[in-house]
Amino acid sequence: MSKLYLYNSLSKKKEEFQAISAPKVGLYTCGPTVYNFAHLGNLRTYLFEDFLKRILIYNDYKVFHVENITDVGHLIGDMDMGEDKMEAGVKREGKSAWEIAKKYSDAFKADLEKLNILRPDVWEKVSDNIPEQINLIKTLEEKSFVYQTSDGLYFDTSKFPNYNKLSHLPLEDLKEGARVEKNNEKKNPTDFALWKFSSHDKKRQMEWESPWGLGFPGWHIECSAISLKHLTNNLDIHCGGADHINIHHTNEIAQSEAATGNKFFNYWLHGAFLNIPGGKKMAKSDDNFLTLKKALIDKNLDPLAYRFTALQVHYRKPMEYSEEILKQAQEGLNSLRRQFVKLDKTKGEAKVNEDLKNKFLEALNDDLNMPKALAVVNSVFKAKIIEAEKYETLVDFDKVLGLKLEDIIIDDEAKEVSSFDLTEEIKEKVRLRIIARENKDFAQADALRLEIEAAGFMVKDEKYEFKIYRK
Ligand code: AMP
Ligand code: ZN
Repeated sequence: MSKLYLYNSLSKKKEEFQAISAPKVGLYTCGPTVYNFAHLGNLRTYLFEDFLKRILIYNDYKVFHVENITDVGHLIGDMDMGEDKMEAGVKREGKSAWEIAKKYSDAFKADLEKLNILRPDVWEKVSDNIPEQINLIKTLEEKSFVYQTSDGLYFDTSKFPNYNKLSHLPLEDLKEGARVEKNNEKKNPTDFALWKFSSHDKKRQMEWESPWGLGFPGWHIECSAISLKHLTNNLDIHCGGADHINIHHTNEIAQSEAATGNKFFNYWLHGAFLNIPGGKKMAKSDDNFLTLKKALIDKNLDPLAYRFTALQVHYRKPMEYSEEILKQAQEGLNSLRRQFVKLDKTKGEAKVNEDLKNKFLEALNDDLNMPKALAVVNSVFKAKIIEAEKYETLVDFDKVLGLKLEDIIIDDEAKEVSSFDLTEEIKEKVRLRIIARENKDFAQADALRLEIEAAGFMVKDEKYEFKIYRK
């Protein structure tokens, strides 16, 4: 079995992955703040994490995956100051904070489904974990890492050695960022809130009693509390977007290690940004963001074309958004589907080709080199092996790619059906019809179309090439 190498932000090196208790792997991914739709940038990060998870599974690890849903009001900006994100949603839409959270977490889950991202084993709402967060703060208080100001409880970063071990930045540089939004009562610019007090003159929709007074948790404490709750003995891999390195993950490490005295996660992986043309990062708080619906579905592009786009760029390289790039990805995906669907799996013995699989695995295990893995996918079609073997090999690869090659036909729009299995007989007719169309044998193609329709399906050629709907 080939060794798996991952780039660890802690060491800034590719390291051979060693699980704490193999074959089990604990994976924690920072979840969304649900005050608005996820944008393509957020989704790029969830796609990268999905590739990682599928690669671990492909390497025979048993992954236990935990993700939070940030439904508690946090503040716009990383620095514990400014407007509350959930309350901003409330103002914008005239709904309660709980309704906003429900609306956008449902939308988030639907997006993941469309992108064929595997669900975590545990999805924890932050609002369901207030006692866990309070307990962790109590432990930090007992260990003297906490001090109180007029607006909340803060973690004293000067008491934690190596505070910058993840960011690798001199403290002055971290302080620079911290100065943007100033709180004069903080002892050190890098100190961060563990608990914030509700203000006396304004009732918050989301607030809780605590030993220190009515309020709400600071942003970073949630991920520490939730990951320690579920992954105590399997703190293997923690991921997020690159924007989390300097503040959110740095603070998670400081407070967790201060509380437990143990190392908090062995591997830290970060995905690079999706940028808009001009190089600026797509962000929720700016209005430059595009959702899956707006950028793909409304433009008659398959959401999986975005998955295909993400596969084409290494996760540590910035990716640029443009309509043209998405269209090209759709064409690339169509071409892959067309080649795949033409393979006759009854021609010869169906088995995975070991040589090609090893090449594929080598690319994956080199820190998720998906562009290289895609090159191996293309080489399958050209390989001098029987069609059934090509088919079987690609089905095996698709466990990682997640492009639903076998389903070719996914039904998003047709009423009430999200995806379904076509019988082998229908799939065969679809395959023959595509070949007939390519050979310009339209009489044969039409005859096959009628047979497909007689079985209760509807063929649409004008949209995705192989889209078939239930009638
Ligand atoms: P949020 O909902 O803002 O907490 O972000 C959810 C995830 O998306 C986090 O892991 C962020 O690091 C990530 N993220 C935010 N903006 C981008 C972007 N433009 N490109 C890639 N990932 C991003
Ligand atoms: Zn987090």
